[in-house]
Amino acid sequence: MKAFSFSGYRTFQKCQRQWYFNSKAKGSNVKNDPLRREITMLSHLRTLAAWRGQLVDDVLSTEMVPAFNQRQEFSLDDALSVANKLFKKRLRFSQNREYRDPNNKKSHIPEEFSPLLEHEYDIPVSDEQLEDAWLEIEIALTHFFQNESLVELLRGAEHLDAQRTLNFKLEGFSAVGTPDLIVYSKRQAPLIVDWKVHAEPVKRYNQQLLIYALALHYNLPLPQYRHRFSWRNYPLTDYKLIEYQLLKDDLRHYTVTEDYLFQIREFIIEGAYKLQLAGANDSYNFDDLQDLEQTDDPEICLTCSFRKICSHEQKPTNYQPNLFDW
Ligand code: SF4
Repeated sequence: MKAFSFSGYRTFQKCQRQWYFNSKAKGSNVKNDPLRREITMLSHLRTLAAWRGQLVDDVLSTEMVPAFNQRQEFSLDDALSVANKLFKKRLRFSQNREYRDPNNKKSHIPEEFSPLLEHEYDIPVSDEQLEDAWLEIEIALTHFFQNESLVELLRGAEHLDAQRTLNFKLEGFSAVGTPDLIVYSKRQAPLIVDWKVHAEPVKRYNQQLLIYALALHYNLPLPQYRHRFSWRNYPLTDYKLIEYQLLKDDLRHYTVTEDYLFQIREFIIEGAYKLQLAGANDSYNFDDLQDLEQTDDPEICLTCSFRKICSHEQKPTNYQPNLFDW
C-alpha cells in the first residue's frame, strides 16, 4: 500500500506518470526486473538546484543535528567544511557516472550517491553554474548559522529529531510525513521546522507543515515515543511551525488552528482517495501506466528524471530552463 505524502501528491497533480514511476515502479527489491531497476536508478537523479538543496539538507540533518544532540560544538565553519567535502565527492561521483555501477548502492555510500540529472541527460553544466551552486550552499548555511536565536534554541533543546518518518492513519487512509526537524524543548509544545533552498520562494508550505504537525500528534502517544512523554499532551493548536527559506533568510511562522486542521484533514483524505483510485494500493503492474494522465506542460518534462523511459512524446518548447529556478 502506498501511503499519501504531500510531495507524492504534488507530483501526482503535476504528472500522474511521474508519480507512478516514483511511487509505484521504483523499489528496493527489484534487481531481477531490469526496467524497474532502471526506474529506481533514475529516481535518484536531481537537477542542480535540487542537488544543492539536498546537500544543505544533509549537512544540517546528518551532521549538525547529531552534534547538537550530543552537546558538541558545530559551527558555520564546520558546516561549510562538511559541505565542501560532500560537494566535491558528489560531483566527482556524478561526473564519472559511478551511480550507473550496480555495485554502488545509495544506502552503502550516502555521502557520494547524489547523481545529477544534467549528467545523465548530457546537459552541459558550466563551471560558472557550479560556482553559483556552491555560492548558494554557502549563503544558505551562513544564513542558518547567523540566525543566532534559532541556533541557540536548537542547542538548548532537550532533543532534536531530523528526517523522522511519521506514519499515521486518517479515516482508514495511510499517510506519511517526514519533517526536516522536530524540536523538543522543556515546557514547550513541539516545534517543526522545514528548510528550503529555493531561489524564488513564491510558494508557501503551510499545508506541508500542517501535515507534519498532524503526523507528529498521532505518533507521540505510540509506545515507541514514550521518551517524548512530556510533549504528548500538548494540543495540536499549541504546536509551532516554521518554514525557513534559507537563501532569502526568510523565516515564515505558521499557526495551527482548528479551521486549518479541518482543511488539512480534508486535503489528505481527498488526495489519498484520488491516489487510491489511481491504483496506489494495487500491486505493481506496468500496464497500469497507460491509464494514467501525463502532463501537458513541456517544462515539467524538462526536469523529469524519467524522460528516457517515458513513452510520452514531449512537446517542443523554447523554454530555456534556469537551473536555479526549479
Ligand atoms: S517525461 Fe513528462 S510525461 Fe513523462 S513522466 Fe516525466 S513529466 Fe510525466
